[in-house]
Amino acid sequence: MSSAAPSTSPTLERGAAVLSGPVAVCVDRPVLSLDRPFTYELAEELEAGVGSLVQVRFHGKLVRGWVLGATDDLPARMLKVHKRVSPVRFFDERMLELCRWIGERYVAPLASVIGRLYPPRVASEEVSRVSADAVAAGGGAPRRSALTGLLETGPSGFAPLPTALRDDAGASGGSTRSRSLLSDGYVNGPRLLGALRDGSGSFVVRSAPGEEGSLAVECVAAALARGRTAIVLVPEVDPMPGTVRAVLEAFGEDVIRFFGGDKRARYRTWLDIAGGRYRVVVGTRPGVFAPVPNLGLLFVGREHHALHREERSPYFHVRDVAVARAAREGAVAVLASVMPSLEGLATPHVDVEAIGRRWPRVEAVKPGPEGRAPRLLATLREARRAFLYEPIRGYGVARVCRACGEAAACASCGGMLRAEEGAIRCTVCEARGRCAACGAEDFGVARGGAERVEQWARGVATVPVTRLGPSDRPRPPGDEEIVVGGIDAVKDFGALRLDLVGILNADASLRRAGIAARERTLSAWAEVSAWAGPSGRVVLQTNRPNDPAVQALVAGKPDRFARTEKQRLADAGFPVGAPVFRVVGTASLEDEIAALPHRTLLVSALEEQTVCLVALDPGDVAVFGAAIRRLAERGVVTRVEAEPHL
Ligand SMILES: [Zn+2]
Ligand SMILES: [Zn+2]
Repeated sequence: MSSAAPSTSPTLERGAAVLSGPVAVCVDRPVLSLDRPFTYELAEELEAGVGSLVQVRFHGKLVRGWVLGATDDLPARMLKVHKRVSPVRFFDERMLELCRWIGERYVAPLASVIGRLYPPRVASEEVSRVSADAVAAGGGAPRRSALTGLLETGPSGFAPLPTALRDDAGASGGSTRSRSLLSDGYVNGPRLLGALRDGSGSFVVRSAPGEEGSLAVECVAAALARGRTAIVLVPEVDPMPGTVRAVLEAFGEDVIRFFGGDKRARYRTWLDIAGGRYRVVVGTRPGVFAPVPNLGLLFVGREHHALHREERSPYFHVRDVAVARAAREGAVAVLASVMPSLEGLATPHVDVEAIGRRWPRVEAVKPGPEGRAPRLLATLREARRAFLYEPIRGYGVARVCRACGEAAACASCGGMLRAEEGAIRCTVCEARGRCAACGAEDFGVARGGAERVEQWARGVATVPVTRLGPSDRPRPPGDEEIVVGGIDAVKDFGALRLDLVGILNADASLRRAGIAARERTLSAWAEVSAWAGPSGRVVLQTNRPNDPAVQALVAGKPDRFARTEKQRLADAGFPVGAPVFRVVGTASLEDEIAALPHRTLLVSALEEQTVCLVALDPGDVAVFGAAIRRLAERGVVTRVEAEPHL
């Protein structure tokens, strides 16, 4: 019996090999102590195979698991696969290989990686989807790829190209645009287009201000012209990023938004993507696994953004997974940013860089009285459309108690007290501000913060000034408007071409705690500076104009900063490109890890537990991971987090 003659077998399964006999199963128990395959006997009539979701008996209970493939690892006693849970094949061998790589790289259980491949199931969607396909097949519609057949190469299963992209055979990256940004405006742009036409590889694209959306469109067009599909990934989708908007406008119904919606809609979307219904997928982190057939491009927008890192197991980073997946599928990975991250630059890649200077003029000036440089005030007076970036919230910080004269501190926790929205609250525990010494609520406040900036900007500007607080909806400044905002206001608004971008409190930002704080600060500065556009002006207030981060912003490129920062991180024991893990376990954990190959080991205690922060040489991760799994089986390791924010 084969899968070709199904009476009840759904179309979704057509083309997928049916296995029988001993198979390796990944049980859905995502813990490192059980992170190995278990062998079960699979009956042919279950019509299951690689990627099938099945039910098996495990430690006496019925649990779910995924079939990984045939195995010759035969236990003395072999249980049967109890049943097939779904007709869908959730991965094929190539995707499984990527999952295994993720499990190894991030020391994560394979079950937790596979659990991220697809959104939560809604079984009724599988049924309606299957009957819809059966109807389509009966009507002689084009053959739709089965989930496991979806990596069959060739665009034969696709409907015709949309008008916008037809008739451009042989043209580079879409003949509908009169001018190609990549061909004419970027060093190595033609090389990237060439790879999209008939090659593969990783590219770091240093986008000129406001051009990321157009670059994404050009890359996608080139991939589609080759008969391939594309995935465009962004760190966040609300408000809708300029890059997503550009891709939607250019490719219309060929694009599916793989984000938002309810559980049912999300799962339906995933099934549709797997069914080869769309050529272009736009999404956030989960999109990196979108099961498109015949992948040609993985485009990662705002590559420097912290939200590209998954905050739960398996703690993967979209950048690394995109590069790894593209390499496995012969596709192109594009990491795009106005200011590429150190990790991005450390990935083997080809640099694609804007030709000529298209970065705004950045002036570093001394802050002046109360953080108001005369230069900034003069420019602000003339600005019609501007953004003032003030990373600190509120109106100021309470310095002294007016009743007793003691230094101001929270009566509940000793934390710093901040004046914000007309009240004084603790920045740590959020309690109402009362003096720790005498309980009074009257403080002398040192002014500074976004509310104070709003106040003085109103006195200077000739157009209306608006402040966007953390709970306000981020939006770009209107035509005649100055907006004051912090990091919550920094989104992808596409090309803005503001007259002025002011960057306040730069020195405080650079002094923030955390090994990566300086790089995160530079990323935010670069994003807001890019809003000024090539003819706009950026004024940054600092007492340290020679700081490499400030110089990187002035130059519009991170290279010198990257060199000094790399040295600093290496000195701190966490070199760029070195995998880092936070491992939690029992008292013996420290000795166990100290005995493994490592670069840096910092140990601390958290309640009854030992916490080890470990940096490794990339070549040692596999050995480290195997040892950690053994320690998890012995109960020494209770938790592993990869690439924690430092
Ligand atoms: Zn407090
Ligand atoms: Zn007091």
